[in-house]
Amino acid sequence: MKKNAELTNGKVDKEIWGFDILEANAYYSAVDNSINIIVGLLGEPFYYDGMSDEELMGGIGMVIGHEISHAFDTSGAQFDKDGNYAFWWTEEDYMAFMERAQKLIDHYNTLTVWEGQNVLGDNVQTEAIADIGGMKAMLTIAKGKDSFDYDKFFTSYAHIWAFIRTRETELQRIMQDPHPLPYMRTNVTVQQYQEFYDTYDIKEGDGMYLAPEERVSVW
Ligand SMILES: [Zn+2]
Repeated sequence: MKKNAELTNGKVDKEIWGFDILEANAYYSAVDNSINIIVGLLGEPFYYDGMSDEELMGGIGMVIGHEISHAFDTSGAQFDKDGNYAFWWTEEDYMAFMERAQKLIDHYNTLTVWEGQNVLGDNVQTEAIADIGGMKAMLTIAKGKDSFDYDKFFTSYAHIWAFIRTRETELQRIMQDPHPLPYMRTNVTVQQYQEFYDTYDIKEGDGMYLAPEERVSVW
C-alpha cells in the first residue's frame, strides 16, 4: 500500500507490471486497450502440449475471447480505442447495447444459488458479458471447422471452472466478486447457445433448458 501511495502524482512508469508473473490469471486493460495473459495461466487445463483444437478453444481460447469481450462490456464500452474515457458510440447503438445488457442483468437476477439466495445481476454484468461473448467467438470459429467435436469443446470449458469451495466463500463471492460463480460460468454461459442444446439433445422440460426467447447475448 505504501509503495502504491508513493506513486501518486508521480511520473507514469509504463514498464511496471501490476501483478505477479506466476499468477494464473488474465485481464483486459481499458486504459491501453490490451489483453494480457499472465504466463502462470499457460498450463493445464488452459494450455498444454498436444491439445486438440476443441480443448484449446475450450481452455485458453475461451480466456482470450473473454478478455477481448471485456473491451465491449458495459465498462470497456466507455473507453475509446486509445484508452481514453470517451463516448464513441452513436446514441442509437448505445441504447441497443444497454438494452441487451439490461436483459442479461435481469436474467442473472433470476438465478438462484440456493434457497433464498439469488445472484446479483448488477455485480456480475461485465464478467457475464465477457463469458458469453467469448463463447460466441469460439462457436463462430467452430462453425468454420470440419467435424468439430462440440462435446469435447464444452467439456474442456467446464473443466476450467471445476471448483470446490465452502458455502461461506460462495456467499462472499456472490456479494463481492464481479465473476459469476464458477459453475455458473459454465452452465449459464452454455445455456445461451443452440450448439449446446444440439450436442446434448436438451429439450423443453430438461433442467438446463432455456427457451430461445429467454436467452441473452449482448454480442
Ligand atoms: Zn473477466
